[in-house]
Amino acid sequence: MKKDFEVMLVEDSRTQALKLQIMLDRYGYHVTVAQNGLEAMNMLLNSQTSIVISDWIMPEMDGSELCRAIRKHDFGNYVYIILLTAKDSKNDIIEGLEAGADDYLTKPVDDAELIARLTTAERVIRLESSLKRRNKEIALLSITDPLTKIFNRGYLNDNLPKAFKRAVRYHQKLSIIICDIDYFKRVNDKYGHQTGDMVLISFAKKLNDALRKDIDWMARYGGEEFLIVLPETDLNGATIAAERFRSKISQLITHAEGNDIQVTASFGIATITYEDDKSHITTDDLIKAADRCLYQAKDRGRNKCIGTSI
Ligand code: GH3
Ligand code: MG
Ligand code: MG
Ligand code: MG
Repeated sequence: MKKDFEVMLVEDSRTQALKLQIMLDRYGYHVTVAQNGLEAMNMLLNSQTSIVISDWIMPEMDGSELCRAIRKHDFGNYVYIILLTAKDSKNDIIEGLEAGADDYLTKPVDDAELIARLTTAERVIRLESSLKRRNKEIALLSITDPLTKIFNRGYLNDNLPKAFKRAVRYHQKLSIIICDIDYFKRVNDKYGHQTGDMVLISFAKKLNDALRKDIDWMARYGGEEFLIVLPETDLNGATIAAERFRSKISQLITHAEGNDIQVTASFGIATITYEDDKSHITTDDLIKAADRCLYQAKDRGRNKCIGTSI
């Protein structure tokens, strides 16, 4: 049966390479052969190889140099290295392991032993890739709101100040919109908290889908409040966008447990402009300005957009 793993054999003796290649082939490994470390590095850069079996003494770049070169480079996946050496002095073994080898075998290689070592290599590689996958999942979870699946408050706290600093440094415009669902408490009171959750989910999705892709982004700011970040957007542009969001939301119908639920939302917009020096203004000032506008929109009857420049 063919294995998932690609093995690279690095060996300057063609006869020894061929002998090992035939044996590994018989066990289902897909094998490539390089004649020295330099050639191996070049081949590794253009392949999916995860296991390297390398000779110790070779011209151009020897086994321990190859180990160091591999460890210096980020291949995206772990490269497991088995050194083959005619020497079996303790010092050589230590040098090889210190250079970054995972394992070693002394020549002449015993077929069964090499296959057993390769099985260990496969186990380590599988473990490493599942850890990496899990780490990615955890990283994503840590910035995602569990209910609406959009960015959470933590992501906002990290990334709004960054967007703000960038805008200040390069004298770019930046707008934010804070949006709050109108009379949301009534939805919960009338239909229950679970239905309220479903409204929140469809609301966030509708809003997120309406954003300029790869430029604007939004996060859940609080319970039924969302904050949208619009880089390089002036007050006029942000007001047009908010008006578009307001209109889309007012037409959204959430079907939940036999009910068709419609809500509206109010929008507070704040923009930082560069007529004067704005170095004293902070992210908090921008949020507070948007919040004040949101409050006015509520005060003037809700389902409205109000904005200001600071
Ligand atoms: P206003 O128009 O003034 O914003 O009225 P409102 O009722 O929306 O405002 P208020 O802030 O009084 O109520 C917000 C409600 O949002 C209260 C809270 O129970 C509800 N809420 C917050 N987070 C969640 C959530 O995750 N799920 C559900 N179902 N409800 C939530
Ligand atoms: Mg050699
Ligand atoms: Mg609120
Ligand atoms: Mg509300």
